[in-house]
Order: sequence, then structure tokens, then C-alpha cells
Amino acid sequence: MDFRAAAKWMSHPEGERVYALILGRHSGIYPRRFRHLKNVPLIVDDARDAKDLRPYLVKYLPEGVYYDRNVYRSLDAARKTGLDYTRAWRSPLFLGQELAFDLDPENVDCPIHGDIEAKMRRHQGLSFCDWEFEEVRRQAVALYDELSEQWTRLAVVYSGRGFHVHVFDDDAFRLTRKERGRIAARFARRYAIDEWVTSGEMRLIRLPYSLHGMVSRIVVPLPRGDVPKFRYDDQRTVPRF
Ligand SMILES: [Zn+2]
Repeated sequence: MDFRAAAKWMSHPEGERVYALILGRHSGIYPRRFRHLKNVPLIVDDARDAKDLRPYLVKYLPEGVYYDRNVYRSLDAARKTGLDYTRAWRSPLFLGQELAFDLDPENVDCPIHGDIEAKMRRHQGLSFCDWEFEEVRRQAVALYDELSEQWTRLAVVYSGRGFHVHVFDDDAFRLTRKERGRIAARFARRYAIDEWVTSGEMRLIRLPYSLHGMVSRIVVPLPRGDVPKFRYDDQRTVPRF
């Protein structure tokens, strides 16, 4: 993992961040002694930056590494007051939340495999076909371009399966929950986004430059111009062990 690049990714805006590791929820592969932790997000709230995650990753060997899009004034204070991160919106320690859009191929209605309900019925909720990947890739470009009419600091990330679009504008960090809910509902009508991510209910998102352990792909930010032809066997995303 490129810890330095991950730390740079996390450096805007000013504030402290919480990380989370998922050990083996989807893969069922995890160190045996951590069986009791395999399905729950393991919260790391004492990393000063992403480089401090290294000992945690070496110890727990998680299948996925995430960060909480909430930004805090002080995690020391949060720990001392026992702040519940799931209800942090009204806390004076809460500075804002990064706005993000999560596009996953399983949410696309496929002419061959059907909609998400049909895939779930066949227990194929985590698999996807090339048609679905290409459709979600097309949507990522369209979504990026549409968002750029309103915001300027955008980034698109290959998530290991689909794509994330992040918004780093200061006014996007300060959106209320109500405003986020409206944005999520509006975009979900035309894009295969996960509404819970954009509305802020689901705060975790994959940390760029970490490994998506289920598909063995590195999560990588992409220049907008690379997205239309991006393939999941792109050399930037294939790990070298
Ligand atoms: Zn399909």
C-alpha cells in the first residue's frame, strides 16, 4: 500500500479522521485469532494520518480499509468524551462530512442478469459482468461531469469493483443532512448510486491506495480522462506481491 499517497489524499480539509478495517465479512478470510471481529468494522481513531495505519494492517490483515468521511476538530477530545461517531452531527467536535457518490456494478439493471433483487435472489449480489462494469463506468463519467457544473474539487476513484466520485469543495463539507438526503434522492433517480453513502447515513468509504481484498485490486484515483476506457486489469490497480 502507498501510505504516503493515502496520507496526501486525506490531508484536505484540515481536521482529524477516523479509519475502519473490515477483517473478513465478505471473503471469510481473516486471522483465526480475530474471528470475533471478522464481521464488524474495527474502528481506528488514533491514527494521526494514514501512514499510522501500517501496524494495524499488518496485525489484522483486513480485507478492506475504509475511512469515515466525517471530519473532527479533535479525536483526543472525541475519545475523552466518549463521542458516538454514528451520532456526531450535532457535536461541537464535528466539522463536516465529505460528500461522496458510490457507483457499484451490482446496482445496475443488466439486460442479462436483471436488477439487484434478481441478483440477490441468485446470491450474486457481489458479482458483476462486463456489461454492468461498462455501464457503471459510463455513469461515473456522466456523474463527474454533472457534478462539475456545481463543484470544482472533484475526484473519481476506481473502488475495486465500481467507482466513487468525491467532492472536496468546502461548501459540500458543510451540507446539512437534509440537503444531502435531497441530493442523494435526486441523483439516485438517474444513477446507480448507493443513496445511503451520499445521504451520509453510511459514512465509510474505501481508502484510496488500499487493497480491495476480495477482488485483489488497488483502489486508485483516476484522471477524469482515463475513466472512459479504464479496465479493471489496468496496471495501476493490479497489486504486485
Ligand atoms: Zn450482467
